[in-house]
Amino acid sequence: MIFPIYAFGQPVLKKKAEPVELSADKLQPIISDMLETMYFCKGVGLAAPQVGLSIRLFVIDSSKLNADDERKKKSEEGIKEVFINAEMIEESGNTISLEEGCLSIPNVYGHVERKETIKIRYYNARMEPIEKEFTGFTARVIQHEYDHIEGILFVEKIKPLKKQLIKRKLEDIKKGIINSRYKMKFV
Ligand code: ZN
Repeated sequence: MIFPIYAFGQPVLKKKAEPVELSADKLQPIISDMLETMYFCKGVGLAAPQVGLSIRLFVIDSSKLNADDERKKKSEEGIKEVFINAEMIEESGNTISLEEGCLSIPNVYGHVERKETIKIRYYNARMEPIEKEFTGFTARVIQHEYDHIEGILFVEKIKPLKKQLIKRKLEDIKKGIINSRYKMKFV
């Protein structure tokens, strides 16, 4: 099932999500629908609050990015992974500024500064505890989705001048004045 995407302005996107019970039976259908939704919307990541669920769960597939997208180095293969009850342990390395977008905020893009490398703890789709380091584009996708479960949107992290420029666009999205390729849920 393809979920509608909760649009900018929906309160669930601003809430810190709650840890979820580690039950494969309960989570498997949600995970599979979230992956289906992410691929349908052509996203590289999707967090549960974006489909209206305030739980600490997100999926990513950083291998799906166009080969010619310069944000991803040729050497990077990317990964497909499910992150349940993730907790960021450490962010390190150089600070890099790259353009981001978000399925909840269509047609809005902006540069966000993030650390190059992260260490994160989470449970995967088989409910196995994992502690792992990620770097490059994959780390960035994880950081963006992790922000979602913390109730933070990328537009809050862009430079004030650019923020001013997109203000009108954000107001329009809030009101449902937007053309998106997929179904959305507005306030
Ligand atoms: Zn997003």
